[in-house]
This record gives sequence, C-alpha cells and structure tokens, in this order.
Amino acid sequence: MSDMNKTYGDISVETAHIFPIIKKWLYSEKDIFLREIVSNAQDAITKHKRLVSLGQTEDDETAYRITVTLDKTDKTLSVSDNGIGMSEDELLRYLGNIALSGALEFIQKYEGENAEDNKNGIIGHFGLGFYSAFMVADTVEVITKSYTDTPAVRWVCKADGSYELSTAERDSKGTTVILHVTDEEAAYLDAFKIRDMLDKYCSFMPTEIYFEDASAEDKDDGAGASEEKPVNDTFPLWQKLPSECTPEEYKDFYRKVFRDFREPLFWIHINADYPLNFKGILYFPRLNNQYESIEGQVKLYYNQVFVADNIKEVIPEYLLMLRGVLDCPQLPLNVSRSYLQNNTYVAKVAAHIVKKVADKLNALCENERETYEGVWDSIRPFVEYACMRDRKFYDRAKDSVLLHLTNGSYVTVAAYLESAKEKHENTVYYTTDREQQARYVSLFEDQGISIAIMEQLIDTQFVQMLESYDQTVKYLRIDADVATALTEENDDTTDNEVLTALFRKVSGKEDLEVKYRSFKDATLPAVLTVSEESRRMEEMMKMYAMQSGGEAPDFPIAYNMTVNNASPLIARLNTLASDEPTKAEMMASMIYRLSMLSQRKLSAEELSAFLSECFALLGTL
Ligand code: ADP
Repeated sequence: MSDMNKTYGDISVETAHIFPIIKKWLYSEKDIFLREIVSNAQDAITKHKRLVSLGQTEDDETAYRITVTLDKTDKTLSVSDNGIGMSEDELLRYLGNIALSGALEFIQKYEGENAEDNKNGIIGHFGLGFYSAFMVADTVEVITKSYTDTPAVRWVCKADGSYELSTAERDSKGTTVILHVTDEEAAYLDAFKIRDMLDKYCSFMPTEIYFEDASAEDKDDGAGASEEKPVNDTFPLWQKLPSECTPEEYKDFYRKVFRDFREPLFWIHINADYPLNFKGILYFPRLNNQYESIEGQVKLYYNQVFVADNIKEVIPEYLLMLRGVLDCPQLPLNVSRSYLQNNTYVAKVAAHIVKKVADKLNALCENERETYEGVWDSIRPFVEYACMRDRKFYDRAKDSVLLHLTNGSYVTVAAYLESAKEKHENTVYYTTDREQQARYVSLFEDQGISIAIMEQLIDTQFVQMLESYDQTVKYLRIDADVATALTEENDDTTDNEVLTALFRKVSGKEDLEVKYRSFKDATLPAVLTVSEESRRMEEMMKMYAMQSGGEAPDFPIAYNMTVNNASPLIARLNTLASDEPTKAEMMASMIYRLSMLSQRKLSAEELSAFLSECFALLGTL
C-alpha cells in the first residue's frame, strides 16, 4: 500500500510473533538493548572503515562518532552514527524482515525448554539485536542514509509489527535510531541510568561515544549537557602490546574498571595470536585479610563491546577469583551457552588462559622470588584451590607452590624435602594452629625441624590432595609424630607394664596406647599424640556436619601416650607405683592431664577434675 511518498507494511509474521516473546522473556536484563543498538552503530562504522580501506569509497575525513541522546520531553532515546547507513532496500531487507539476526531461531529453540532457567542464563546474557529495542519502546524510528547516493529514508516500526516508510531529510551518511520509550519503562529516560548502562557495556568501544542530555539543555543556566568528552576509552589497555604498557597504566586500568583502590598484586597480559586470537589482562586482586571471600570478576568483550561477566565456559570457574578483561573477537556477540559449551575454540581459549596463569606464577617464583614470597600468602588460597580443581593446573604450577614455615621463610615442597632428608625423609610436618600447638612448634624447632603453616580450612584439603598426587610424601601434623622431635640417639624403648596399667586407669581409657622412648629433654615426662588418620577423620566428620548444618557426632579420638624413660619424674613414679599406690595414682593422673593440656583445651568436666586434683595435691605439701 502506498500514498504520496509513504509506504506501509507489516513485517513478516514470524517477526511479529517475536515481540510478545521478547517482552515476556527479557525483563531481567533489559539494559542490553542499548548495547545492541550502540554496537549496531559501531558495526556500521567498522563497515564503512573497511570500505574506505578497500578503496571502495572515499574517505570524507569526518571523524567517526556515535551520539546517544536522551530527550525526556519527547520521551525518546536515540543513537546516531555516521557509519555505512542503509538504502531503502537494505533497510527493508535487514530490519523489516525475518532476517533479523537469527534471533527468531534462537528464541524458538529455547522457548519450549525450561524457560525460567534459560531466561537468565542464556537470553539474559546474549542480545537479540535491533529488536531488543522493543523491550523499552513501543515505536522505533530509523532515519538512515546510505554512503552511496541513494536518498535518505525514515522507517517507523510499531510494537505490533506494522511499519511506515517515507523519505527523509538527512545529508550525511549514517543512521539514527530513535526509541520512543513507553511510560512503563520511563526509568530509561534518566541520564544517570543511561550513563550507567553506557559505562557498563560501552566503556571500551572503538568509536568515540558522546552522551547528550537534550532535556538538560533547556535548563536556565544554559550550560547544556552535551559532553565534550567521549564516555568511552577507544583504545583500552588490553589492545596495546604488553611491552608498551607501564605498571602505572595497569594499575590505573584496574582501578578504573574494578573500582578497587587497593593495588592488584600482579597481572598477566595475554596477547594470543592466530589461531586463538584473543587478548586480555588478568589481575590477582589484593585482599584485606585471609578471611575475605574471594570473588573476582572477569569481563568478556567482543571487539571491545561488553558481553557479560564471568562466563565460565571461556574461563575455568576457579580462575573467576581473578579480576580481568578478555576480548574474544572470534566469539559472536550473540551466542548461547550451549554453543559455548560445545565449542572447541572456547575450550582452547580456556586452556590457554590456564597455561598463562601457571606460567606467570612460575616466572615470578623463579625470577622474582622476593616479590613472589611477598604475595604468596595472598595468592595461596587461590593457587591451592586451582590446584585442587584442575590437575593440569597443578602439574604446571606445582614447582611454584610454597610452604610458609613457622620460622618465617618460604620454601617449595621439593626444597623442604631436600633439606629435611637427613632428619625425616619424605615427611612434611605442619601445624594447623601455631598458638594452640605452640609447645610442639618449639619442640620441633629446637630440633631444627621445619614446620609448614597450614592454618586455613583449605590447607588441610590441599594437603590431602598433595598426598594423593604424590604418595611417597607424607604430611604429618606436629602433634601426630612428636617422638621424632624428641627422642635422643640411644633411645630406651623398654616397656613398663605397671605404668601402662596406671595410665590406662587414670585416663579412664582401657585401650590407651602407651609407648616408651627416651627424650632429649629429661624434664618432659610424657606427651600425648593423636594419630594423623584419626584426627583427619574427625575433621572430616566435623566438616560434613557443618555443611549439613547438623551437630558433629562425638567421634572418639584415639590418643597415644609416649612416656619418657629418661625422665626422673617417671623414675619416681615407678618407685611410687610399688611403694605408695595412692600417690602414684595422683602423680600419673597429673602427668596425663598436663600432657593433655598441652595437646588441646580440656573439656569443662576434665578441667574441674583437674583443678580438684591440683588442690588436693597442694594439700599434701
Ligand atoms: P545483527 O546486528 O545481529 O545483524 P540486528 O537486528 O541488530 O542484527 O540488525 C540487523 C541488520 O540491520 C544489521 O546486520 C545491519 O545490516 C543493519 N543495521 C542495524 N543497525 C544499523 C546501523 N546503525 N547502521 C547500518 N546498518 C544497521
């Protein structure tokens, strides 16, 4: 149908069918419409640039730019570019037809399936091109002039799928898309909101983007609100060669993008050439303290257009503790999760990132050892977690895993084992609580045995993983094998059945295992130890209980007692045992409880029994 110079029409049935679906589904991340429209503008500019470089059209020397204009009075938001533009034919072909960007197919594919889950997971993250404008607008107007000589056209499309086409006044090439925002979505007529969205999605687009608040120009001060400065950085740091970037630039970029004023610990600039062809910068963030939860943010870009945060198909989930940007121009802007999951390119990108991160750790450990030691405690939970999640990562980075020793130094596991070879082969001693295990710490240190600090929950899990990867090396908590640190060379291991019976009696533990050794320190009558397995079992039960929210079951810990045959106190106990049984019992009980006390806190019951015994003892003085 046509009158004068106007044409009316309906976009194809399939296309009309799309609107209600778009409206129904996309409410959660409506903001992406702006990204879609602005990146179309960017594409139009890129296409024109390419034609110029191919010599197929003249360079008119005007600077490329995109302008986003908000007009509250007219209730419009428009995006204008000076790119390639469209002729009438092209416009009808590209925008008035089913050819809309595969969006229909995309939606149909997911419409039936589990719509609720997909809504956020898939659709939310990936755009729908031009038609996403109808999420916020009931009418979308396009005024465009092709770079060729064809006349400018104006196309007005309504949410019901009907359109109106007419000639338009426009002198220069390019396109303006005007969104007539609905009353329901009036929140999008707010300058802060738009600025925020531009900041999120368009901060690094390659063409300068200017934001103009037309409504603000009407204000009395006449200052106007048209921006002199573009809202974006057209040449983000990741596009530069690593060799051309200074540490200050990396830090500035980090501050700006992640709004974190703590300096990052270090960073990795990836510049992968053909065939992977992606770029990015990954930062190890600085944490305030070890208890701060590590939640990173890795932003994915497509040719400098923001796609989404934390896409775990592209970067392994355990690396999401890092912060950074990745630009993968080989991934289309509109892709579904299932596409990413089954894509070998994506898998290669992820593998490359893992390799780069491990290489960086190795390089720091080898060449900048002091710096590396300085940050080790901060990056350690991350490295341990990554090693546990990914054997490949562990295999690559294992030589850069450090043990932080109680004497303040840092050593690799290999170096630890090497220097311990003479004293205790293939055993790493560790403490889970320097304060509580202070007595054992000093016993080991006095013997020149190094102790690794493993005080975080993750450390204990990490230790188990290390053991499973290399079964020749044992990890023992210092209170599990204290005899190693104590015994002297001519060790007297003679059993004493009388004392064993006595200790079993006073401890109330029929099956208390009592061993006899002679310690270098004669003042120490005995020590209590817990077997490593028994203790780990208890820890595991506690953890399960914690996770399931229940109470930890009462798990009987098996204590072992090692009595010092070289102790004068034990000799005296021996005499008392035959001469004065009551006193012997009192003394044995004291020794048992004092040993227990240096192993762990006494329970309320134990403590009150212990105190009465002490007072009774004082009475005998
Ligand atoms: P996609 O961008 O994924 O192809 P869209 O629905 O966003 O899908 O756009 C369809 C087509 O319309 C584009 O491929 C492009 O040819 C054309 N188009 C959209 N916006 C513009 C613009 N600002 N300038 C020139 N052409 C445009």
